[in-house]
Amino acid sequence: MSLEFGSTYHPGDHVKMQVPFVDLRAQYDLLKPSVDEAIQRVIDRSAFIGGEEVQAFEQEYAQLFGVKHCISTANGTDSLYIVLKMLGIGPGDEVITVANSWISTSETISQTGARVVFCDIEPDYFTIDPVQVERLITKNTKAIVPVHLYGQSCNMDALTEISDKFDIPIVEDCAQSHLAEFRGKRTGLYGVAGSFSFYPGKNLGAYGDAGCIITNDDALAMKFRMFARHGALKKHNHEMEGINSRMDGLQAAVLRTKLPYLESWTAMRQSRARLYDEWLSEIPQVHIPIVREHSTHVYHLYVIRTDHRDQLAAFLSEKGIQTGIHYPTALPNQPAYGYLGHKPTDFPIASEYQSKILSLPMYPELSESQVQFVCDAINTFSSA
Ligand SMILES: *Cc1c(COP(=O)(O)O)cnc(C)c1O
Repeated sequence: MSLEFGSTYHPGDHVKMQVPFVDLRAQYDLLKPSVDEAIQRVIDRSAFIGGEEVQAFEQEYAQLFGVKHCISTANGTDSLYIVLKMLGIGPGDEVITVANSWISTSETISQTGARVVFCDIEPDYFTIDPVQVERLITKNTKAIVPVHLYGQSCNMDALTEISDKFDIPIVEDCAQSHLAEFRGKRTGLYGVAGSFSFYPGKNLGAYGDAGCIITNDDALAMKFRMFARHGALKKHNHEMEGINSRMDGLQAAVLRTKLPYLESWTAMRQSRARLYDEWLSEIPQVHIPIVREHSTHVYHLYVIRTDHRDQLAAFLSEKGIQTGIHYPTALPNQPAYGYLGHKPTDFPIASEYQSKILSLPMYPELSESQVQFVCDAINTFSSA
């Protein structure tokens, strides 16, 4: 990386340049002929729910991961719920998860009837702190749900050790970590199951809601599929009550068109992150994301930490640069979890970070000059 500030754009460009937070349209523009053809194919066959496209997607996704089973679902929230339910988790049980995540992670635990037990994050990596996980284990703990937040793996060495020691299964929330690795093994392959989301803005995004579960456990795979299809593997043969969580043919066709690009899109995210790293590391007020040893970061989000976060976001917004906050209120501090009676000081790191984290524009099509424009603006703000 030998790019320097000012090397690929002219000062006048600043006035016009807009940097969106994500740009789904840019990806469609690149793939238009094949996406349009895939959508037309589904309409021609009129296989709108399930069908060949969905089956083919499940096979291709399983192949990509070298995993025995991929079960498509309607969304990543359902994927988590299906796994937890089919592990037999319910009232009286406890499930440990992380204080900083999207609410799907904790919501689905409560939906089973179990109690959510929140754990603080590691200061360097934003992911669940294994040392505290171990302290939170009781005789009622039935699962641990780590989230590979922002696209980086949790400490799977420590979590696997805890899982083995106490014989408690790990359910991985991989909604932000498609293809991220830890010790050369992909996230989603460490726990009893990996839960994925294909929400449009995720690293692999459908044109609506979609998700899946991967697992190498034959018996669980069958249960996941059955529960997600009204408790029936054969039509009209309901072995249990389940839920309706199926993938649309249209979503499967779009996902199949995009899947071959996932690796190169990931590499493009990583190269943009390297540029951010390089240019932002010179600004003392900004903490850039740290990559865990033995792991790859797939940068679903590029998240910096800084004081005066809100002023910086406002300043960037004025320059036409969109940012996000993931997440502005840690889950235990949300009104929805008021009943747990926590204070923000119970989760000191997550509670401190909620007012310091800022997600910068990140998507594969983001150009080098856009990254440069963003970094330049942050530099201007920080030197003021
Ligand atoms: C997106 C997301 C989910 C839920 O996925 P949906 O497909 O939107 O239901 C779950 N967990 C995390 C961490 C997510 O980012």
